[in-house]
Amino acid sequence: MTALHTALIVAAGKGIRAGGGAPKQYQPLGGRPLVIWSLKAFLGHPAIGHVLVAIAPEDEALYLAAADAVGPSAKLLPPVEGGATRQASVLAGLEALAAVGPATVLIHDAARPFVSADLIGRVLGALDGSPGVLPVIPVADTLKRGKAGGAVEATVPRDGLWRAQTPQGFAFDAILAAHRRFADRAFTDDAAIAEAADLAVRLVEGDARNLKITEPEDFALAEALMQMNRPSEITVTGQGFDVHRLIPGDGVWLCGVKIPGPYALLGHSDADCGLHAITDAVLGAIGAGDIGTHFPPSDERWKGAASDQFLIRTLELARAAGGRLVHVDVTIICERPKISPHREAMRARLAEITGLPAARVSVKATTTEELGFTGRREGIAAQAVATVAIPG
Ligand code: MG
Repeated sequence: MTALHTALIVAAGKGIRAGGGAPKQYQPLGGRPLVIWSLKAFLGHPAIGHVLVAIAPEDEALYLAAADAVGPSAKLLPPVEGGATRQASVLAGLEALAAVGPATVLIHDAARPFVSADLIGRVLGALDGSPGVLPVIPVADTLKRGKAGGAVEATVPRDGLWRAQTPQGFAFDAILAAHRRFADRAFTDDAAIAEAADLAVRLVEGDARNLKITEPEDFALAEALMQMNRPSEITVTGQGFDVHRLIPGDGVWLCGVKIPGPYALLGHSDADCGLHAITDAVLGAIGAGDIGTHFPPSDERWKGAASDQFLIRTLELARAAGGRLVHVDVTIICERPKISPHREAMRARLAEITGLPAARVSVKATTTEELGFTGRREGIAAQAVATVAIPG
């Protein structure tokens, strides 16, 4: 049997309550709660068998919502209630982890969202030969001693000085025993407790990007780093064109809006050529065929159907392919009805269907100067361009 490696993520702090929001571990980074990023890193590491998170009891709902967003994982243990201090939370986590009988534990602060698989691997690797492992980065700045606003008292040699990061790795039984023994003394990290218990703690190379979010301003820096790490995106465009015949009736559907009048558009569905052109444009952008292949007129399901369904299903297809609609522009070509009185209602309806802000939905109209089939009022045509962002 291979040794069981586990991770304990400490997320029980009160954190920053700037602006009256949630504690920092639940504040959004990259659009998701901060704690999610560490959770994903450890759950996603093949050598880690179990992950346990220590949380503040009053934050349980926030934590469960965040964990839910990560998706189900057999590795993730139910959260444990932390204590009044970080040290007490770690001890509570270690006591709970003892039930799964781990060989090692990596103890990590949720406030370090950029922990990489490389760093986790490096700490685990060094644990092979040492009961404790501490990732560190060199101190780059010259160090001075003195009081704020006062004079420099001394320059402190920085040789042999390091900044300690997490995850800190330990032989499980040894760190649990050390935490129990020193529960009534305050330490700032687990390596210090190991040190007090005379456990050897080996230094390994940390990661400059593994920054700790302490102040509200740190979120801005972290967001910038998040953007840098984000996989690149490219935008692709597709175009669509559609025509339906005009017949006597009680109104036409265009871009999801019914415009009353003494005529209608003939078609198997509601014959909304605006939505059909947009649907085809999105399909074109993601290279997924055309509206006829996905929603054939031979299929009774689409008889008289509201055409927003076609666009909604197509956008689901786009999302499944990693795509995100970013802009749509549609032109309606007809002599009647007059489009301008309905343009804003169409934009609003298209924004609602697509989830785009109205500013990124364009509805235009033109006549053909009474030329051709649209000019003779035999039918209405629409053309559309859709822009979709996809992974680069
Ligand atoms: Mg059509």
